[in-house]
Amino acid sequence: MSKTWKTKLIHPDVHAPEGFESLAPATHRGSTVLFPNAASVQDTWDQHAVGYTYGLYGTPTTLELAARVCELENGYRTFITPGGQAAISLINFAFLKSGDHILVPESVYAPNRKFTVEVLRRFGIEVGFYPPTIGANIQSFLQKNTRLVWCESPGSITMEVQDIPAIAEVTRKAGALVVLDNTWAAGIYFDAFTHGVDITMQALTKYVGGHSDFLLGSVTVRDDAAYQKLGAMHQLLGFAASPDDCSLALRGLKTLAVRLAAIEKSALALAQWLSQRPEVELVLHPALPTCPGHEFWRRDFTGSTGVFSIVFQKNFTKEQIHTFVNSLQLFKIGYSWAGVTSLAVAYDLSPRPHRPDYTHRIVRLNIGLEDTSDLQADLARSLSKM
Ligand SMILES: *Cc1c(COP(=O)(O)O)cnc(C)c1O
Repeated sequence: MSKTWKTKLIHPDVHAPEGFESLAPATHRGSTVLFPNAASVQDTWDQHAVGYTYGLYGTPTTLELAARVCELENGYRTFITPGGQAAISLINFAFLKSGDHILVPESVYAPNRKFTVEVLRRFGIEVGFYPPTIGANIQSFLQKNTRLVWCESPGSITMEVQDIPAIAEVTRKAGALVVLDNTWAAGIYFDAFTHGVDITMQALTKYVGGHSDFLLGSVTVRDDAAYQKLGAMHQLLGFAASPDDCSLALRGLKTLAVRLAAIEKSALALAQWLSQRPEVELVLHPALPTCPGHEFWRRDFTGSTGVFSIVFQKNFTKEQIHTFVNSLQLFKIGYSWAGVTSLAVAYDLSPRPHRPDYTHRIVRLNIGLEDTSDLQADLARSLSKM
């Protein structure tokens, strides 16, 4: 049919030549997905089963990222979410109902804890917190209605490495699922499924992205039952991820190995150097024996990454520790981590039953890709200003 130029803007006659092949995965954007005829229209989330139906469930770019994360984590299927925190809430909404009980380690990522206390409790779900170093004694915290046991290893800020196989064995015998936040290990240095975990999540925002320029999360499962539950809830929560961000994550994967190797080496050197400093009481780096659960890191992990904490000696005031952080020049102050820039954040941890009494003396460092000797000089200069 004949068209005016205005209609040609929407329905062009031109066709790009076929056969283009490049090294960069294509970025497919799209909300509407076209169906060949009226009868084939359907709103099914499981695009592995029925083909593409709607942008919410992922374009080819999203599903390529999902498949690659899944491959690296040795899982069955992976969902991509708009951020790591969305991955956490997706898992909780998919598996919990009123009357259920969940267990969360005291060392868990703070917004994860806050979600359980402020949202799950509001929906009639019982929440218990357990000491992260508990191992097989998780038994004493399990109830008849325990549905999920969350793990995060190492924990956020306080860095306890957990005995996941011991927790998993007891939990699975009791009929509950083991969920792991595997962000610190980038889904690489801890093989969750061979250590008994049922569901993993990570903030792709961190090491997969690697450049502090987007937020994405992933949830990976080992079986179809979990895949079905998560898929149905992913649809209802409307957790669409941007294909543009997914293409950045796919680019991040290409350099993940070299970034992790460089960061591991630099972080270890700095952690060891800091552990010799008189101002520092304790270095909480999983690869150092001073970190709670170090033996489980040695047994179960194949490497370490760039986030660790230092605890200052008891005589240092909060003001002195803030002077240390504020004096740093290469280390910037800010949330999130795993980018190329080193970061430092001072915390003041209120006392809790299963948390060590570090209070205002703890500072978390993220080691980036700056030269290690420059970072060491920055730390040394700032320590001398305390
Ligand atoms: C950052 C982080 C998250 C949340 O990720 P976002 O993408 O920032 O929402 C979850 N867990 C851990 C351990 C994190 O460090």
